[in-house]
Amino acid sequence: MKTVTYSKNIFIPVTDLCRNRCGYCSFRKDLEDARLISRSQALRLMEEGALAGCCEALFTMGEMPWTVPGFSQILSAGKASDLMDYLVELSELALEHGLLPHTNAGLLDEDDLRRMQPYNASMGLMLETTARLEAHAHSPGKDPQLRQEYMTLAGRLRIPFTTGILVGIGESRQDRLDSLQRIAHLHHELGHIQEVIIQPLDPKPGTPSAGWLHPAMDELCQTVEAARCILPQEVAIQIPPNLVDPLPLLSCGASDLGGISPVTSDGISPERPWPREEELREKLKGYSLRERLPVYPRFISLGWHGSRTHRLVASLAGSDGLRAKKYIF
Ligand code: SF4
Repeated sequence: MKTVTYSKNIFIPVTDLCRNRCGYCSFRKDLEDARLISRSQALRLMEEGALAGCCEALFTMGEMPWTVPGFSQILSAGKASDLMDYLVELSELALEHGLLPHTNAGLLDEDDLRRMQPYNASMGLMLETTARLEAHAHSPGKDPQLRQEYMTLAGRLRIPFTTGILVGIGESRQDRLDSLQRIAHLHHELGHIQEVIIQPLDPKPGTPSAGWLHPAMDELCQTVEAARCILPQEVAIQIPPNLVDPLPLLSCGASDLGGISPVTSDGISPERPWPREEELREKLKGYSLRERLPVYPRFISLGWHGSRTHRLVASLAGSDGLRAKKYIF
């Protein structure tokens, strides 16, 4: 029976201020509306997550918010003086609550990436695409070259890494193949890619993407099949079960459902509820649904997960490297 994995997580939106303006984003806020999550809000989520048996704290934020004029006011309103210090503080809090941090903070410089590494079981950054698209015309951080350089740096630092591509943002089929080939190349070179997300566009009202089309299922199936051919077998293909019916894509080669939360909504698409575990089990009869940690078993064996996460990983992982304990949603 084919195994399908997922991670039980909580989503922690550290800040929604972002220097980019991607054409499909409803997460980012302008300075007047942007916020930094407070310690008490983060703590409450972590307590709820721990109670619900989660094992991952997914830290997400807009990219390089410190380059947006006025960010210092948001920081000081949140009683923080430095965003990286604050991230470290929240990561330590997560570990104290039995939650393994996985941070996707957009592009970081090498010092900041090195700073975050010990506290993270794994880290992530979507490549999205190697193409230069209108959707990224106002997003300097979506320069494909910069993102590949960041992924290379993460590989050199031996950080277990999650990346992925977006489908339906104006890229061509060939662009998708090129993007997957670039990811495969990086993995062949550095060996750090644990999973690749095939993420369909979810057009958001009030954004330029509002009138764009959801990618069709046959397009997604072709993309997953191509990904399975291009990427080494050890790299999992992830699909988000709140955005797309997972069944056809699992039969095309996907094997992971990503983070699913019994506590928080999908912070990027909050209007798309997570399926409940029992619904998934019913839907995925014929597959063995297993919970995993935010770091894949191979990287636990290699010891690549952050040094401060080792003790917690050892207590959460079973002999096969997936999650040992079984909790009910
Ligand atoms: S980088 Fe992320 S948060 Fe910023 S605008 Fe783009 S999608 Fe939104």
